[in-house]
Amino acid sequence: MRASLILAVLLMGCSSTAGRAGISPGAGGDVRPPSEGEGEAGAEGGGEGGLDIVGEGEADGPCPDGQARVDGACPAGEGEGEGEGEASTDPEVQELCDDTCAPAGGRPGTWARDGSCDDGGPGADTPECGLGTDCADCGVRQGRTPPREGEGEGWDGPVLCEDTCGPAGNPDAWAGDGACDDGGPGAEFAECDLGTDCADCGPRGCNREHPCEHGLICREGACVIDDGGVLNVDIPDCAHVPDWRCEGGEGFCGEVVPFEPDRGDGWWDYPLNGETDRDQYRSYVRRDVMMLVKYATASVACLAAGWDHGNHQPLGLGDMSESNGDIPGTRDGQPGHPAGTHVNGHDMDIGYYQVGTRDNTLRPICDHVQGGADAYHCVGEPTLLDPWRTALFLAKMHDSPQLRVVGVDGKVGPMVEDAIASLCANGWLDGSRACRAASLALAFEVTDTQRGWFHFHHHHLHISLVGQQGKRGGGRAGRDACIVPGCPP
Ligand SMILES: [Zn+2]
Repeated sequence: MRASLILAVLLMGCSSTAGRAGISPGAGGDVRPPSEGEGEAGAEGGGEGGLDIVGEGEADGPCPDGQARVDGACPAGEGEGEGEGEASTDPEVQELCDDTCAPAGGRPGTWARDGSCDDGGPGADTPECGLGTDCADCGVRQGRTPPREGEGEGWDGPVLCEDTCGPAGNPDAWAGDGACDDGGPGAEFAECDLGTDCADCGPRGCNREHPCEHGLICREGACVIDDGGVLNVDIPDCAHVPDWRCEGGEGFCGEVVPFEPDRGDGWWDYPLNGETDRDQYRSYVRRDVMMLVKYATASVACLAAGWDHGNHQPLGLGDMSESNGDIPGTRDGQPGHPAGTHVNGHDMDIGYYQVGTRDNTLRPICDHVQGGADAYHCVGEPTLLDPWRTALFLAKMHDSPQLRVVGVDGKVGPMVEDAIASLCANGWLDGSRACRAASLALAFEVTDTQRGWFHFHHHHLHISLVGQQGKRGGGRAGRDACIVPGCPP
């Protein structure tokens, strides 16, 4: 059910493309400051890969324990899967002690010996690093190299892996061409059946030999997002959160005001992009937008207080508008957003709720480098994303009919949609507009369809609201909304 939901989303993303478009060459290697809506070429890594048939009925008879055949042979014993470290599970407990704990992409050891135990083990102050990697602060740990979240469960069934994807008359032409064409999670195209472009997409489904990506868990052969137990917690009463409704008409509610105070129940408007504590010149927003964000973040802080999952920190707030309604950066002659966005306090950039980090400030939540160059979008799974709090927050934002669109990265969108659906099904969002799939104002591009969401949303999400009269501003709303002018029809 979840898999089909993701598939449907991916198919929608591709439906406007007539035939199979060519792949643009990679973007240049120049490093630019992040700014939304720039660029057009999607970086595309070259891909090759052997044929790795892991399927049913390839050879004689079933393997022991119902395991799937690999290249026609039954898999070897434990630990010898296919030469991938992650495939083996070594049950031996050993002593873990090194000092490599560091922020993602940071110099190894940055967070070792800082007086705070960061390895997530018993008594740790933070879960920033792997068990045993902050030995100076935490001491020696006993354990295995910790399994990554969501890899706990196995499945003995088959995994789909064939290389038969191609146009009519030329089967297999699109397998191994560097673009994943099977329409599954992370696919660039949905031309072929799931599991038929194994060389480019990897095997589909999961079992003991083919565990899921980080943040996903193998359940009955399908990779589904790990709910981290959040759906089993009693739902708290959060009636005390501040109301999002602004009374007083457009003149009052549409007034552009500083987002204050800087810290509140669930949010943190910290200085960034050249701001200082005393000069938060990029943090002005419509009063009703501010009220809605305060309501949504307070709702998350309350509803998710009992979850083990995530870092339990407030949500970091990024660029809004300048005090006169200009695009942030205009004061310095460097407007940092596409024309027509972030004006008059209608738009905000906001961090993602995260796992495995110290706070929810704006930072990449995925690998975004491809071929040595910044691709400015997620090229790997969003391993630092807390999809559950992000889903709660965005669903609560939907309580206002003024919410026009939320833009997220193409790797984040399907995961958050899935999480919203699960939260709705489990009573966390009763009556929410977000629970009606057709009303969901989540925009993202799994491939670059020129609507402006494909790039620059790997480190933040973008919200945009209309005024109290509900003017759509001439643009399209919801998942079809564009962030760039001149969006293709
Ligand atoms: Zn933005």
